Amino acid sequence: ASKAGGRGRFSFFSSQLLRVAEDKRLLEEDLRDALARDEIELAYQPIVDARTNRATGVEALIRWNHPVRGPISPTIFVPIAEEADLIRPLGEWVLRKACQDAASWPGKLRVAVNVSPVQFTHDSLPKIVLSALAASGLAPERLELEITEGVFLDDCPQTDAMFSTLKQIGVRLALDDFGTGYSSLGYLKKAPFDKIKIDQSFVRAATLPGSRNRAIIAAIVALADALEMETTAEGIESLDQLQLVRNLGATHVQGYVYSEAVRSEVLSRKIENGEWILPPSGPTRQRSD
Ligand code: C2E
Ligand code: MG
Ligand code: MG
Ligand code: MG
Repeated sequence: ASKAGGRGRFSFFSSQLLRVAEDKRLLEEDLRDALARDEIELAYQPIVDARTNRATGVEALIRWNHPVRGPISPTIFVPIAEEADLIRPLGEWVLRKACQDAASWPGKLRVAVNVSPVQFTHDSLPKIVLSALAASGLAPERLELEITEGVFLDDCPQTDAMFSTLKQIGVRLALDDFGTGYSSLGYLKKAPFDKIKIDQSFVRAATLPGSRNRAIIAAIVALADALEMETTAEGIESLDQLQLVRNLGATHVQGYVYSEAVRSEVLSRKIENGEWILPPSGPTRQRSD
């Protein structure tokens, strides 16, 4: 009986694995046509200056509205796109669309675009960036590329060259999800980042009594300050968290306390109405300017 039970368990697990793999394959197939079928769009979340409480930019976040399954999180389909070599066409579309949208907004908000390590290690990226800027007329300094520590995984010489080419173009560079990847700090020395984004996992528990995350956030801010980089604290959901990361010196904040990501037209309206200056019942400004 125990033998049969063992086999039963085995086939239970293996059929589950099969189902997961099959599901991934189906999603990959659907993803191939998603752009052409107009199922992909961008949403924009404000990034706010911690001192003035004003949005200085937005982050473009990709959205896939699957015709049958509904919205699918990029945390699920971006890795699939990376494996299936679909991230480069998707990423190019994101860059072009984000630049085009940003050029249409009133004012001079920056737009931050997430760039996969797969895109970053490909020679074509500078040409695509230049072409997206030229087609939209967006000034290079209004475009920020968000890169994760994943680009440093294989220490290839092209990575350094890519950084300097992008800096020559004049776009800004941000290191995303800082602290979640590989703890080597060596790359901070050589890569010309304008900003470090402190991962939301550090913010999440930081307001709890005795949390070590406060010390970690303070250390990241000190490091960034010394390297003359800005810091965005990600995933700020409450006014307590907002106050805390401000006190710890983060230069920028981003999170649901201000707004979720919204569509480009909604963003334009919000800018015109002067919204996104203060969160609901937000704290008073720390500096009178
Ligand atoms: P990320 O670049 O770190 O983006 C921040 C994520 O945190 C977004 O999730 C955003 O909606 C979410 N977020 C913002 N504020 C809060 C908050 O207060 N609380 C919580 N719990 N979450 C918050 P989203 O849009 O689901 O994207 C997830 C990840 O998918 C992104 O993480 C990024 O790594 C990737 N991604 C999104 N768009 C793109 C893209 O166009 N290209 C590439 N390569 N990756 C993308
Ligand atoms: Mg990002
Ligand atoms: Mg992040
Ligand atoms: Mg993330």
